[in-house]
Amino acid sequence: MRIVEIDKYSGFCFGVKKAIESASDLLDSGKEVFCVGDIVHNEAESKRLNQLGMSIITIEQVKDIKGGTVLFRAHGEPPQSYASVEKAGISLKDATCPVVLKLHQRIKKAYAAQKEQGGQIVIYGKRGHAEVTGLAGQTNNEAIIIEDESEIDAVDFTRPVELFAQTTKSPEVLRKIVDLLQQKCQAEVKWHNTTCKQVTGRVPRIQAFAKSYPVIVFVGGQKSSNAKVLFKACEEVNPNSYFVSGPDEVKEEWFTTAIDKAGVCGATSTPQWLMEDVAEKIRTIG
Ligand code: SF4
Repeated sequence: MRIVEIDKYSGFCFGVKKAIESASDLLDSGKEVFCVGDIVHNEAESKRLNQLGMSIITIEQVKDIKGGTVLFRAHGEPPQSYASVEKAGISLKDATCPVVLKLHQRIKKAYAAQKEQGGQIVIYGKRGHAEVTGLAGQTNNEAIIIEDESEIDAVDFTRPVELFAQTTKSPEVLRKIVDLLQQKCQAEVKWHNTTCKQVTGRVPRIQAFAKSYPVIVFVGGQKSSNAKVLFKACEEVNPNSYFVSGPDEVKEEWFTTAIDKAGVCGATSTPQWLMEDVAEKIRTIG
């Protein structure tokens, strides 16, 4: 039988694991759970929790809920979301990742200090991403959001700047933004590497894993940006890398009889059970 191994560093990061445990505990205790937004960018895991009774809602729908518990996922929420839940009188389980919560506090404090001295908060992140909405909310939505170094001109170079990054962004691009700000700004530039090691540390690890197998099957959700980044990292070192969302997408033609072993890995949003299902499917081929 073909040897199929699962990367021990793949799968849920600490923050996502904690949010899913919170949802599972509430569901186990018989509570109705309403999660604001997808709990994880993985369709299979969202479907599993949905079948157990968890609904996905928008923050605007909170006012229509009559009971149960609202769950805030690991990405975090802006202050207005907390106010909406409080106004609706619904119980709240805040599963915001502690790393993100700490970042909220840092940005809030920096915003107050920068406001006093006429400075500006800049967030390097994806516009419209839930985490970035939560971060910008700490600045009364006054933070300037830039998606990469090409958007640097949105910053006012005559005023002080304090820069933060969305936790899942690239430290290399952050460094480029810092260099440009330092070249262009006439006032003080403060910056903080707030990328999360749970994500940034995965690229070298997954590449080391991907190099060790003739075929790599990467398991991830179609909506997960982390999955895209990590899959690309696999492809860079192993051209025989394939992306699947689940076992049904594994193709026999990837595994000739000469392929005696394969590696399975995934994103920070990929559940362990799904990687195991994919590994089992590969073992049965040929
Ligand atoms: S990537 Fe890091 S900050 Fe984001 S949820 Fe996971 S542990 Fe928390």
